[in-house]
Amino acid sequence: MASLQQNRTLQILKAAAEGKYGVLAAIAYNIEQLTALVRAAESRRSPLILQLFPSTLKQLPTLAHAAAEAVKSATVPISLHIDHAQDEAHIREIMATLCVDSIMVDMSHYEKEENLAKTRVLAKECHVRGVAVEAESGRINGGEEGIADTGDLEALFTTPEDVEDFIKADIDILAPSIGNVHGDYGPQGPAPGQLHFDRLESINKQVNNRVLVCLHGTNDFPPEIMTRCIENGAVKLNVNKLLLEVWNEFLRQNAATTPLVRLIEEGMDVLQKETERWMDICGSSGKA
Ligand SMILES: [Zn+2]
Repeated sequence: MASLQQNRTLQILKAAAEGKYGVLAAIAYNIEQLTALVRAAESRRSPLILQLFPSTLKQLPTLAHAAAEAVKSATVPISLHIDHAQDEAHIREIMATLCVDSIMVDMSHYEKEENLAKTRVLAKECHVRGVAVEAESGRINGGEEGIADTGDLEALFTTPEDVEDFIKADIDILAPSIGNVHGDYGPQGPAPGQLHFDRLESINKQVNNRVLVCLHGTNDFPPEIMTRCIENGAVKLNVNKLLLEVWNEFLRQNAATTPLVRLIEEGMDVLQKETERWMDICGSSGKA
């Protein structure tokens, strides 16, 4: 049985919890983004969690292998995480065929009892292979490019009872629902009062290092919201558009006029710099 003691994602997050900083868990949709993220981690001497969506694994089957190679060859702690894995058969295929450090087993589309039962079974199977498991308690609303929208299912805030139930389901990383949403908040970020920092803080106290706390839904976050989430116990900060928008915007502005190889290089530079900026904000720079 592979040991979770050696698990890269958990090692990265435990060090962050002890050192009171946050680690970016950054989505990549392609090899340029993946490369820019890794370059940022190297240049800032920062830990990093690379995240791929299950849909990306199907669209670009070799990307996970490139990511695993980047994890192995990096001189800073990096791990590979699969975000929002919602299909049980695909989760089993992922753990059997790919070199991943952690998987978000997202059964939040099911009612709670079924969610917990499925999560417990899958967590056990992952742990046998040394793969750490994240789960979402309550329900985080909305959708992102690459994952199913929760549609008209209502958001459910994480309760103290949820926290205990998910810990009993043997997960390693808990993603609470505290008013955070998938998708956009709007240019100002979350509205005042939208994020329940007190709920996040009490969840963090309640888990008391039994699991690590992850925050989803960080689009449009201003730096002060990010640091407040970290102060209140979030150590794994899932980021998608928060970083990638500069890359998207660079392509929108330059794709028609810039030769391809230069477009690739300059796009990676822009994303690397933005990632470095957020590593500084999260306090992970220099911690590798
Ligand atoms: Zn998410």
